[in-house]
Amino acid sequence: MALLSVVVPCYNEEETVEDFYTELMKNASFFASRDLEVEVIYINDGSKDRTAEVVKNLHEKDERVHLVNFSRNFGKESAMFAGFESARGDYVVTMDADLQDPPALLPEMFSWMDQGFDCVATRRVSRKGEPPIRSFFARGFYRLMQKISKTEIVDGARDYRLMTRQVVDAILSMKEYNRFTKGIYGWVGFQTKWLEFENVERMKGETKWSFWKLLLYALDGIMAFSTAPLAIASVLGMLFCVVAFVMILVIIIRTLAFGDPTSGWPSMVCIYLLVSGVQLFCVGIVGQYLAKTYMETKNRPIYIVKDRF
Ligand code: UDP
Ligand code: MG
Repeated sequence: MALLSVVVPCYNEEETVEDFYTELMKNASFFASRDLEVEVIYINDGSKDRTAEVVKNLHEKDERVHLVNFSRNFGKESAMFAGFESARGDYVVTMDADLQDPPALLPEMFSWMDQGFDCVATRRVSRKGEPPIRSFFARGFYRLMQKISKTEIVDGARDYRLMTRQVVDAILSMKEYNRFTKGIYGWVGFQTKWLEFENVERMKGETKWSFWKLLLYALDGIMAFSTAPLAIASVLGMLFCVVAFVMILVIIIRTLAFGDPTSGWPSMVCIYLLVSGVQLFCVGIVGQYLAKTYMETKNRPIYIVKDRF
């Protein structure tokens, strides 16, 4: 018998945890027909509500339900990593607790696994029910990533993914502290089948991602999987050198030919501000990478577990 581990990161999901379980177990006959055993691993990412209690109740009814309880909120990336570490399955699938990743898709995903894929991933083709401004920036982010990163990061990709043990082990071997899972999936490679589905709106509760949080997450992603911003800094530096050089020549020739008196301190101030602005901007970029490196070298654990069952 093969084992399927279902990894579910939860942050303030008391309302959805149980519905998720019910929905997942609607696949029971499918699991039985495939000789699949199932374990559900909820990761309680420092919820401030009764998430842990609800999972505990589920565990008392069904001992295939497990909980990894974090000591505080470490973020979804850390939660997924903890889930992968705890999963013992031959297959591992990650899903959101809010049923935006329909468990009904599992049979189809497995049918693709049977055809030799190592990984079945999902992407949503519509962004129905999402604020237009958010969709606009999300699309822009993916387009930018496509240009500046060698790692493939797919537009609309969800974290809903079915993987073989081999893929999970590859992901676990990437121990970086600044985790950007969408990039990590692309980086490890393997044969991936993409399934598309219409966006489903969150069932209960509300999204944990404010626009600001998403923006910071996008910047993290760019820095984790591309060094293009650093290149921009050097290119800007070179560009300004060339411009300055040409201008020096122009001024010398003009002074020699026309004897122009020294003037124009306003333009001087403008140039001064512009150049120092660009300098600060570039130092800032370098600083961001330095900060990431600093955090990595501290070698802190990705998450801390308070208790588990
Ligand atoms: N989540 C988490 N830690 C966090 C934020 C979110 O574990 O700090 C979980 C959350 O409980 C949910 C999943 O990540 O199961 C996706 O979150 P959400 O539905 O809020 O994001 P959205 O679907 O709106 O992008
Ligand atoms: Mg959601």
